[in-house]
Formats: sequence, C-alpha cells, structure tokens
Amino acid sequence: MAFDYDLFVIGGGSGGVRAARVAAQGGAHVALAEESRYGGTCVIRGCVPKKLMVFASEFVDIVEDARAFGWDISPGSFDWPTFRGKLHAELDRLEGVYRKLLAGSGVETFDMRVRVADAHTIELSDGTRKSARHILLAMGGWPVKPGIAGEELAITSNEVFHLDHLPKRMLVVGGGYIACEFACILNGLGVEVTQYYRGAQVLRGFDDEARGLVAEEMQQKGVELHLGTNVLEMKRDEASGSVWVKSTNGDEREFDQVMFATGRAPNTRDMGLQDVGVELGRNGEVVVDAYSQSSVPSIHAIGDVTDRVNLTPVAIREGMAFVETVFNGNPTPVDHDLIPTAIFTQPEMGTIGLSEEEAREQEPVEVYCTSFKPMQQAFAGRSDRVLMKLIVSRESRKVLGCHIVAPGAGEMIQLAGIAVKMGATKEDFDRTVAVHPTMAEEIVTMKAPVRTG
Ligand code: NDP
Repeated sequence: MAFDYDLFVIGGGSGGVRAARVAAQGGAHVALAEESRYGGTCVIRGCVPKKLMVFASEFVDIVEDARAFGWDISPGSFDWPTFRGKLHAELDRLEGVYRKLLAGSGVETFDMRVRVADAHTIELSDGTRKSARHILLAMGGWPVKPGIAGEELAITSNEVFHLDHLPKRMLVVGGGYIACEFACILNGLGVEVTQYYRGAQVLRGFDDEARGLVAEEMQQKGVELHLGTNVLEMKRDEASGSVWVKSTNGDEREFDQVMFATGRAPNTRDMGLQDVGVELGRNGEVVVDAYSQSSVPSIHAIGDVTDRVNLTPVAIREGMAFVETVFNGNPTPVDHDLIPTAIFTQPEMGTIGLSEEEAREQEPVEVYCTSFKPMQQAFAGRSDRVLMKLIVSRESRKVLGCHIVAPGAGEMIQLAGIAVKMGATKEDFDRTVAVHPTMAEEIVTMKAPVRTG
C-alpha cells in the first residue's frame, strides 16, 4: 500500500522536531503537525525562557557581591516589560530556527491540530486526511491544576512569561521542579514570594539532605515557604483586585497573583488514540515499550506524552532511538538509567543516580558529604552554604549517586555525571587531582564517610 508519508510526527517540540529531521535526512518522506508554536514546551514555555529568567533574577545578588568586592555600583530597578520584550524576541528567533531546520531537512509542516483516525491515518483540523506508514506521537504535556475552588484565578508556568507586570505578592503552589524554580526566580526579581507545599519537604524524591539545604537557602533568600500547607479555596477580592486564599493551615491571605505548579499531564485528550487501540496509562500517558512502540505497532510515542523521564534531552534521545529502530533497522532501546539533571533553584541542585535514602534500601553504602561556605560568597559576607555528596556502594565501591547544591551545580553535574555513568568508584574520584581553588574540588577530596549503613 502506498502511503502519503513514511512518517507523520504529531508535535513540534524538541523530541518531535529531532525525530522528524533525522528521519528526513535519512531519506524518509516526513510530515509534522504543530498546533501551537515550534520548539514546544522547552523552547516556548519551559527550559529556555525559564533559564533566561533565572539569569535575570540573579543580578541583584551579583551586584550586591560586587559592592562587597569593592565596586561602587548599585542594582537600580528591574524593568519587567523591557526584559519580557527581549525574552519574547529571543523565543521568536528560536522558533524561526526550528522552522528553518525542519524546512531545510525537507519535512513538510502543518500548522494545525490533528487527530489519529486509524493506525495509519491522520486527520487534520481542516478535515484533510493523510496516510503514513509510521505515526510518532510527540505532543508533550500541559500543566494541570489540582481542582480547587477558584483555581481559574491562578496562572500556571505557561502564563508566567506573559505577565503584564510583576505582582507585588505572589503565591506559588507546589514543591516540584517548577514551583521551586519559579519561587526563586520571582523572589530574585523582587516579588514577595510565598510558597505552599502539601508535603513535609519540597523536591520529593531527591536526596533528603540536598533538598533540605535547597529549602533552607530558599528561605534565607526570602521565599516564605510553608510546608504541609495547601490551598483550600480562592476568590477574587473585587475591591482590591487581589486574590483571597484560604489554606489548610487556617491562614486567609491576599496575593496579587497565584501560580499553580502542581504537575503536568500528557497531551493525549481528544486525539482519537484509544479509539484506534492505543493504550493509555492512568495519567493519560501513551504506554510504550523500550523502543517507544505503543500497543498499535505503527504508532510510536516519545517525550513527555509517554511520562517516562520528562526532560528535554531524554525526549531528544527517545526521538533519535526511534529513528534508529524504525528507519535504520537497528533496534535501539533508550537507556533511562543514571540521567543527570539540574533544578535551577538558587542555589542550583545538580544530581545523578540514587539518593542516600534509595541507595540504603538497595545495599550497604558509605555516604561522603561536605557542606561549606564557598569562598566568593563568604568573602562577600554571605552565609550561603553549598553541599557536595557522594553515595558509594560498599561492595563494588561504585559511586551510586552524586548530589551537588551550589551555584553552577547544573554545570558541575554534567561533568561528574560522565564519571558516574562510566561506573567510576570512589577510588577513581580520589585518584583525580583537585582543581584548586574551586568549590567542585571537594568532590574529589572527601576522605572519610560521614555515615555508613
Ligand atoms: P512535579 O511533578 O515535579 O511536581 C508537582 C508538585 O505539585 C509536587 O510538589 C506535588 O506534590 C504537587 N502537587 C501535585 N498535586 C497536587 C495537589 N492536588 N495539591 C497540591 N500540590 C500538588 O511537577 P512540575 O510541574 O514541577 O514539573 C513537571 C516536570 O517537568 C518535572 O517532573 C520535570 O520532569 C520537568 N521539569 C524539569 C525541569 C528541569 O530539568 N530543571 C524544570 C521544570 C520541569 P507531591 O510531591 O506531594 O506529589
């Protein structure tokens, strides 16, 4: 049977664009549909604008430190509309790059919503139907609000990049990556930030000691963090225009803006997937095997829509592995083990492998950990602390986990991650000469375990 395309990709985010381009460069006839903007969550409403906001938010501390180092300067004030204009111009530029890359690879694009009509057919929103030998689902995810009375008054991370003005008082709800990152960003930009998290400590699932330090430092920098606290009800105060929030700790407070960062759900609604036999999981994610194949053999899925490890570089790898498997005859599973990641809080947290708690469940371990005031900040009179931590298997001596809380921890963990991924032992770390004077040198100079178990 002749198909219109060898591959039809749904979703123009990092994963979908990469898979489409690589398949097309290999000679496949490829189409891609995107209903919103090219670049997807990462480029348009995630990693990229977030990181630019992180940079913007760090200048107050940088200028303060500069003064402590003898510079005669003061921070002045931050002009959100100026920054926002530049930010969106940059996102427009990047979207253009994505479009160009697709066009340059010969991928045909459709700027519209589509749905799956059968195992080999895509229906475009204008009613046209296109057939494809393979369909790749790469629609990503979307923020979800928890179902609280009045939640329509709150924004999510999608809207935070478009605010007309920065609020004076902001409530951030949640304790995951997004909540903690934005609590820090907004605090750095001069917003009075309150954060409610329902659990006992933010960043659940990460190493206890590391997330404890992040939470402590966030509070020290001015984020008013309330643990064990959630929103019960919200209403608009018509007189003041602010949002009245009643919370589970009994507080009733007013905020100028509320942001929910309470998780994300895969974009699988109204796509016709279950009608054609694609199995979805409890959160609406596409259920796939190690080769990203769904329960319908001609339909694969990659990235956040599969809710495996929801990170851009993972989606890209899944896209490349899909092309290798399906178009190059080389079945390639994606290795989801030992993925380094960074949380761009202030200070940042970089992490790879097992937390101390997970490792202890698995086998006897030695824990090496040091926490100290880094030279630059200490000289500037700050009390900021950083943390370097290694979890080592007592039997194999391998480093099972590495956790860093420090300015630049994202950069550090990328490099430490290579050693951990290669299976480096504690003795391999010890054999490596320290780079002096740096913060990261502590990762190779920790002599005795602080705990064993
Ligand atoms: P997460 O799943 O990380 O966190 C969701 C948070 O919301 C948790 O603290 C959760 O609490 C809380 N929550 C969930 N439901 C409710 C509820 N009903 N009421 C109150 N709180 C609730 O999601 P995010 O939205 O922060 O991020 C989504 C994903 O995006 C991340 O997992 C990550 O993979 C990716 N990401 C990566 C970044 C990076 O690499 N730097 C940056 C941003 C996002 P609890 O812990 O109790 O479940």
